[in-house]
Amino acid sequence: MSPLPLHAVDGVPPPQGAATRALIVDDDVEIRLLMRALLGRHGYCVKVASGLQELACQSEMLDTELIFLDVDLGPFTGRDVMQFLQDKRATAGVILVSSCSLATLEQLVEAGRSGGLRMLGYLHKPVQPATLQRLLEQRPLPPPPLTVAEFDTALRRDELFLNFQPKLELASGRLTGVEALLRWNAPGRGIVYPDAFIPLAEHSGRGIALTWHVLDLAFRQKARWEAAGHHFGLAVNVPPAWLHDADCLSGIDALAARHGIALDGVELEITESGAMECLSYARHVLGSLRDRGCTLSMDDFGTGYSSMAQLYRLPFDQIKVDRSFVGCSDIDAEAAAITRTIVDLGQRLGLRVVAEGIETPAQHELLTAMGCPLGQGYLFGRPMNPETFGDWLARHPRAPH
Ligand code: C2E
Ligand code: MG
Ligand code: MG
Repeated sequence: MSPLPLHAVDGVPPPQGAATRALIVDDDVEIRLLMRALLGRHGYCVKVASGLQELACQSEMLDTELIFLDVDLGPFTGRDVMQFLQDKRATAGVILVSSCSLATLEQLVEAGRSGGLRMLGYLHKPVQPATLQRLLEQRPLPPPPLTVAEFDTALRRDELFLNFQPKLELASGRLTGVEALLRWNAPGRGIVYPDAFIPLAEHSGRGIALTWHVLDLAFRQKARWEAAGHHFGLAVNVPPAWLHDADCLSGIDALAARHGIALDGVELEITESGAMECLSYARHVLGSLRDRGCTLSMDDFGTGYSSMAQLYRLPFDQIKVDRSFVGCSDIDAEAAAITRTIVDLGQRLGLRVVAEGIETPAQHELLTAMGCPLGQGYLFGRPMNPETFGDWLARHPRAPH
């Protein structure tokens, strides 16, 4: 059903100017109409979706300030919905709408909060206009933008931590390594994901200090795993600017020695967020890192500034096909064609190829049929803290021990 314009629902013209945006996700048409009318009366600009599939295909819908979420959406449970919003890094305030018990709703609110969602409460069905009104009045304002001062405090107080996501051989399911992904447990905000704070750190001249901090955390964890008998690769994301740090080579040697690890188990994933400054100097540093045993990966291939010229002139060992192509490859012929072309390109150049963002068995099958050797994605394992990753390892017998 195409959404009705607000004025057709309740006789009030759509609000002018910057109205608060709200999204209603509910498979019950009557609830959608009722909520839409109530919110419209409060001046909200409302979008509706009937379920997760619709949201998954139109993730721009999550670019909203408030989400009203039915927790019983067809085949999905409340926890699936929460996981979906976490995966999509939703920053909107979330209000659950359901007829399940208050105890269950409270548990779901708590689970969402600890997963980094901004949970604002719940509405019990049947929705009472007065309850909704109270909730809207009490609604806390969205948090203010992150500041450099907050980030400096985070570094000092050790609020940054790493999650680890498995990387596997697609044909056999064997674990080849893990990628370290940075998170920030920011007081008063909850879990903040890297896309929200790395640009702030880099633009304020803190990108290199942050990279050393991440390498330190990652090497420490690798040393712990090795002490426990687990020998798999560790990938760390580094910005190109780090290659230009005068201490890059001596610093990584010293750090590896301090943690007692060898660099041949370390992979560096380089993403181009801006044009690389000086290719010939970058080639020298990358060559020296490779001589030390590091594997060099071009991350997010096919997007941003990651170009053929860099692939041609720099000594990469591996390319990672960006998840924006892989994640649509089973439903979109063009995304599949781009994915296949990148896999072929990698193979012709003698590079290893990793498909990132594999979420469905159909994508797994397609990538395997394309001859892509390695993959990573929610289908195999989400980014996990070391403890949860330990459980994952125990459940995956093909992982080396
Ligand atoms: P990336 O290096 O391409 O990392 C993969 C991103 O895809 C991660 O997001 C991961 O959680 C997400 N992902 C993995 N599997 C799936 C999947 O199946 N579906 C979907 N939709 N997403 C998946 P995350 O952790 O939010 O990191 C985002 C980006 O932030 C990273 O992209 C990387 O470029 C950057 N980043 C993360 N950690 C660091 C770091 O320590 N230093 C630097 N400089 N950048 C980092
Ligand atoms: Mg990466
Ligand atoms: Mg990537």
